[in-house]
Amino acid sequence: MAINKEWHRSHRMPQKATREQRVAWHAAHVAACCCREIPLSIRPDVLKLRESRRKP
Ligand SMILES: [Zn+2]
Repeated sequence: MAINKEWHRSHRMPQKATREQRVAWHAAHVAACCCREIPLSIRPDVLKLRESRRKP
C-alpha cells in the first residue's frame, strides 16, 4: 500500500462530508493514491463520476 502524502495533504476530507463530497474525494483519490479502498456504499457513484469525467 502506497500513500501519496502530498496528495492527502492538499486534499483533506471535510469533517462532515456530504455523500457528494465523499464521492468526489474518492474519485480523485483513487487516481492519485491507493491507500484506501472505495467504500462499497459509494463505489457505484464514484465509478459513475470517473466515467463521466473521462468523456470529452
Ligand atoms: Zn490515499
